[in-house]
Amino acid sequence: MVLRSCSKLPGILFCAIICFFISATATAQGKNTVRTIILDAGHGGIKTGTKGTFSLEKNVCLGITLKLGKMLQKEMPDVKLVYIRTTDVHVDNRARAELANASKGDLYVAIHANAMPKLEQKKFAGYKTEVYYTGTGKNKKKHTRKVKQYKIHYINNVTAKGTETYIWAADRTEAKGDFVEERLSEDTDSTDYKPDINDPTFKAKSLLWTKRYFDKSLLLASIVEEELKKGGRLSRGVKQRNEEGIWILQATAMPSILVESGFLSNPQEEKYLNSQNGQTEVARAVFNAIKRYRTATEPRSAAVSHPTNPHKTK
Ligand SMILES: [Zn+2]
Repeated sequence: MVLRSCSKLPGILFCAIICFFISATATAQGKNTVRTIILDAGHGGIKTGTKGTFSLEKNVCLGITLKLGKMLQKEMPDVKLVYIRTTDVHVDNRARAELANASKGDLYVAIHANAMPKLEQKKFAGYKTEVYYTGTGKNKKKHTRKVKQYKIHYINNVTAKGTETYIWAADRTEAKGDFVEERLSEDTDSTDYKPDINDPTFKAKSLLWTKRYFDKSLLLASIVEEELKKGGRLSRGVKQRNEEGIWILQATAMPSILVESGFLSNPQEEKYLNSQNGQTEVARAVFNAIKRYRTATEPRSAAVSHPTNPHKTK
């Protein structure tokens, strides 16, 4: 797994700086930035995700996501929620991204759980008699010797623990830009405006939105980790991942994050993530983060200002 830390800045200072820029942009544009949230409970159906000793990731993801959805529904009734799944079904990644983009989400939040790969351990399994020769011709002599034999065992790596929140890798910005471009070209609430995707102005606009989505994803991810830490969890920070599993973060044309809520390979965390209390705490932390993100990115007037297209720039 290729992981790298996103920022060396102290969390609070970093959040304050990003909040300032994003908030200034939102205010200048007078936009309500969070009207539709896509909630994605990772895996599902035949795709169980990672496994703990007694539980499957897909069920933990769904439990936390449904709790988060209930909190949002109750405390942010003006926000439209789009669930990728609410039951134990398999939805492939492309369909997840398509639903998120078609629903014109303003935020994509995926909930997952982590696991450490098992550790390889060599165990002594007895001696084997090995034949070998010395000398040549008449002097050739046969000998035997005992050689130690080992068996490979795989044991659970139980030590890793804590939360991580992912955003798309910086080297995938171009790919994300393609999806943003596609969405912008489809966001045509005005019948007389059909953007030409080869037009440099349109290109510049899509680049700007991609950059904005990156800043916003980073902001939300940083706040999520801050909130989880406040709740007593060990935060492993905001990270970027390059491998396949994170494709969804670049394919969703909106600010998007993926929360790894803890390690099912760690017995304490597996128990916690399967408990009602643990799931509620994780959901509450993500909810608080969304709330703070919303306050940070939306102008006060947004509550009465509802432009039909939140992505249309002037
Ligand atoms: Zn997962």
